[in-house]
Amino acid sequence: MKCQKCGFQNQEGAKFCKRCGGSLEKQKSSTRIWIVSAILIVVCVSAAVFLHEKGNNGGSGLRGFLLCRRGYL
Ligand SMILES: [Zn+2]
Repeated sequence: MKCQKCGFQNQEGAKFCKRCGGSLEKQKSSTRIWIVSAILIVVCVSAAVFLHEKGNNGGSGLRGFLLCRRGYL
């Protein structure tokens, strides 16, 4: 497992770099956050489209989409 900051070769499964102390799990967890965010955005867009299709007050679909985004991001 190579450190992203200093390039030091650490043991497999190490959580922190032995040389600079940098986290070795950062990239993996940030990738997971991006995947979760993408899924949430897709769900929000689907919900907004569904609400818009129902035709409640016209702009409720967009408002629901914005509220959903603010709640999760
Ligand atoms: Zn390092």
